Amino acid sequence: MTLPWRHPHRAALLDAALAQRILVIDGAMGTMIQRHELQESDYRGERFAQGFDVLFSADGHAHGEGCGCPVQDQRGNNDLLTLTRPDIIRDIHDAYLDAGADLVETNTFNSTSISLADYHLQHLVRELNREGAALARAACDAAEARDHTQPRFVIGVLGPTSRTASLSPDVNRPGFRAVSFDELAEAYREATHGLIEGGADLLMVETVFDTLNAKAALFAIDDVFEELGHRLPVTISGTITDASGRTLSGQTAEAFWYSLRHARPLAIGLNCALGAKDLRPHVDVLGQVADTHISCHPNAGLPNAFGGYDETPEDMATMLREFAEAGLLNLVGGCCGTTPEHIAAIVETVRGVAPRVIPSLEVAA
Ligand SMILES: [Zn+2]
Ligand SMILES: [Zn+2]
Repeated sequence: MTLPWRHPHRAALLDAALAQRILVIDGAMGTMIQRHELQESDYRGERFAQGFDVLFSADGHAHGEGCGCPVQDQRGNNDLLTLTRPDIIRDIHDAYLDAGADLVETNTFNSTSISLADYHLQHLVRELNREGAALARAACDAAEARDHTQPRFVIGVLGPTSRTASLSPDVNRPGFRAVSFDELAEAYREATHGLIEGGADLLMVETVFDTLNAKAALFAIDDVFEELGHRLPVTISGTITDASGRTLSGQTAEAFWYSLRHARPLAIGLNCALGAKDLRPHVDVLGQVADTHISCHPNAGLPNAFGGYDETPEDMATMLREFAEAGLLNLVGGCCGTTPEHIAAIVETVRGVAPRVIPSLEVAA
């Protein structure tokens, strides 16, 4: 039996919008945070000023002079800014909504216990996901209040983590795994609970480079839905990391779809690693095999020698206009290197172009 929607009205609004037009997802969070040139003290705020969380200790001791807690640098821990500089994260959401984005992604890409372990902040998973979703929710609600004709949706983002379940990081021990399926599923369950509590409209398993990690995420999401007795729409977005057009775990876009279609996602797509031009053939393949919506949020080209991204809003919009006119797109946006200017150009260029029609595919008996 299929579980009912948690927010039936929101799910219906999203369906209606997808039937009507190509929806635009926001652009990069990291690129926008970089513009602020934040220092260690910005990342730490008051709560983490001493290099650990003053509100928490694993064994319940009261922090004090010489309590021995390790001081951990937090610079680069962008998800922590949800708690320490919520003003900046809210401004970024607002800038993308002002650019015309229909959907904004939560600042939770690394908010799993596995990724937060690098900062000794595993205990923050639920809080970061809940507060990250709540910040995006508030921004979307404010935008909707200004213009009732355009619904705005919060995508609760579940990132890939820094570990792969199907590959060994050690060439001398091919059977070794740095993380197990069960560990990943547990990490994703916690994150999913937080995103739902914070008010996400839908969930996205994003930047998938290892299909087994995505399976763990989808398994965890289902567990949480079962526990709660209701569900949200779920989308999946993979990443082509290899010149031969495969994910890190070796799958083509087509194999990626067939591995995950059992989850019946609202959309399947590709993001990151490549610019629009190099993603084009893989989006095309997905569009031929997938009987669901297609999403695509490329980087602003390939990284340059300095790790930056050079494609202008006009460059990207021109390429994505061609995708749209070829009938490939239901959802489109930007990943690394994209800004509100890129998103505004994409909004402009896909306006009035019909969304891809989901094919009804013959299913072999
Ligand atoms: Zn302490
Ligand atoms: Zn990216």
